[in-house]
Amino acid sequence: MTPKIPLSQRVSSLKPSPTLAVDAKAKAMKAQGLDIVNLSAGEPDFDTPDHVKEAAAEAIKEGFTKYTAVGGIPELKQAVIAKMKRDYGVEYAETEICVSTGGKQVLYNIFQAILDPGDEVIIPVPYWVSYPAMVELAGGVPKFVQTEQETGFALSVEMLEQAVTSRTKAIILNSPSNPTGAVYPEEMLRDVARLALERGFFIVTDDIYDEIRFDGKLPYNAVSVAPEAKELVLCVNGVSKTYAMTGWRIGYLAGNSEVVKAVTKIQSQSTSNPNSIAQKAALAALTGPQECVKEMCAAFRERRDYMVQRLQAMNGVNCIAPQGAFYVFPDFSSVFGAKWDQGTIDGSLALADYLLEKAKIAAVPGIAFGDDRFIRFSYATDIKVIEEGMDRLQEALAALAR
Ligand code: PMP
Ligand code: GLU
Repeated sequence: MTPKIPLSQRVSSLKPSPTLAVDAKAKAMKAQGLDIVNLSAGEPDFDTPDHVKEAAAEAIKEGFTKYTAVGGIPELKQAVIAKMKRDYGVEYAETEICVSTGGKQVLYNIFQAILDPGDEVIIPVPYWVSYPAMVELAGGVPKFVQTEQETGFALSVEMLEQAVTSRTKAIILNSPSNPTGAVYPEEMLRDVARLALERGFFIVTDDIYDEIRFDGKLPYNAVSVAPEAKELVLCVNGVSKTYAMTGWRIGYLAGNSEVVKAVTKIQSQSTSNPNSIAQKAALAALTGPQECVKEMCAAFRERRDYMVQRLQAMNGVNCIAPQGAFYVFPDFSSVFGAKWDQGTIDGSLALADYLLEKAKIAAVPGIAFGDDRFIRFSYATDIKVIEEGMDRLQEALAALAR
């Protein structure tokens, strides 16, 4: 008989990404012929711009299909340097840049590089689903700090000071945020930078949605508002969201050269260079015409306005207008306790189940982001789909016995 070999404890306690899981379930139901309105997907519905695709086709024709430098080709690093200068006003050298297989790999590498067992990482709640898992996979301990919709999901100095201990190695900031769409005030970022300098910890700033924002301002983050903290700020970004390039898998880190050296070393022993063809495509995205970004952003804004206006008019929904990214994160807690024929809606999982079963709307329950009061709807989909989704939601909420 084949012996049963246990897998690692590390993987046994690891949960699969719930955002990817809900999206996969919605797609499977659709493939079975069910009429699903999928508001779960965290990726732009737009096609990758043509000039980007052409750059990739050219790379293949030219035979640019071999291993590259582990941390990315110099031209792409230069394009990242130019973007960091243009948008954040901060100068970087090539030794301060590492290109990886998506923002996700950048984050994973960072935590592998900076955490020892027991080291703490401050994670504001609601958080993007993969942060706690990535910290734990590196032996770290997530230290959650609850934020509230009423205060725009921002952190106060008091909350921060309470959360920092002698084991604090880093804080994760994500602005515009997945799932809330909140943009942190500049003053708050200055407070975090001051504390990081005083107490000695890294600021991991996940800027993946930095160009999808509706206030007309240039992106800003902890390093642009507090350049004196540059050595402590690890800027994570990528082309997935800005250029509708989720499948190409290119992300990058700009920050402290010691950390960049460490993450490049980890990459050299794990995945080697990011895909050579995708690197050429990302180069075209970053250096080519930027009108496509403005156009996609304008479409997201129109959809956000529509979705928020519909949600705010519904009974039982408490929601603020997100300032960026492509998610709305309404509070549904006033619906909790309501009944339907298969049970009581006692939290976000039950509500998401109800919406999927009854209204055929796929959305991600807030519990996946650490806050059970909310549901995440993505508006990175056609306005017609959003209209249908909002009609169905309104009907489903009205049908609940309260
Ligand atoms: N950070 C956040 C907040 C995200 O929503 C995503 C999307 N998956 C990522 C990082 C990583 O994106 P990617 O790996 O596609 O660059
Ligand atoms: N970031 C997207 C989301 O939150 C994609 C899914 C994922 O990478 O987890 O839905």
